[in-house]
Amino acid sequence: MLPVVSIVGRPNVGKSTFFNRLLGKRKAIVHDEYGVTRDRHYGETFWNGRDFNVIDTGGYLPDDMNVMTVGIREQVHIALEESDIIIFVVDVETGVNTLDKAVASLLREQEKPVILVVNKADNEERRLNASEFYELGIEDLYPISSISGMGTGDLLDKVTEYL
Ligand code: GDP
Ligand code: MG
Repeated sequence: MLPVVSIVGRPNVGKSTFFNRLLGKRKAIVHDEYGVTRDRHYGETFWNGRDFNVIDTGGYLPDDMNVMTVGIREQVHIALEESDIIIFVVDVETGVNTLDKAVASLLREQEKPVILVVNKADNEERRLNASEFYELGIEDLYPISSISGMGTGDLLDKVTEYL
């Protein structure tokens, strides 16, 4: 069994864009599952000579904030059950929000390694703004741009340290 890395976070932060970048040309979708909270995509990739599986979570979540919070909680619980490392993605363009705080508090309550990825850090100003996310209380914070790939190398080095 390969180690499993799950990608969690609220909608539109760029989880799927990041997942696709991780898989890139070596894209090998292991399998997909569909359903409201079980919607997830599994892929196999490698970095620094280490193979691991990546899971992209949370395709379909309702717009209603209360219902969404429940859905995200469930997705985080599932991710924690099935993975060795959690990558929690947030969006520097919109800044810290209530759902991010809800996810962060769930993740802080458990023992598995959590890496906070501040996505959409496409330029210097946004990379600096990424530090506002330290308020979520997660030490390993990596600003990246899933679109350009900036910062993803350092982040993956950290992931493989935990594997
Ligand atoms: P998900 O709902 O978390 O899976 O988010 P998606 O991957 O579907 O992305 C949501 C939106 O954010 C899309 O319009 C993406 O093109 C955009 N996006 C994703 N990553 C980046 C990034 O690094 N920079 C910018 N500027 N936009 C991004
Ligand atoms: Mg997605």
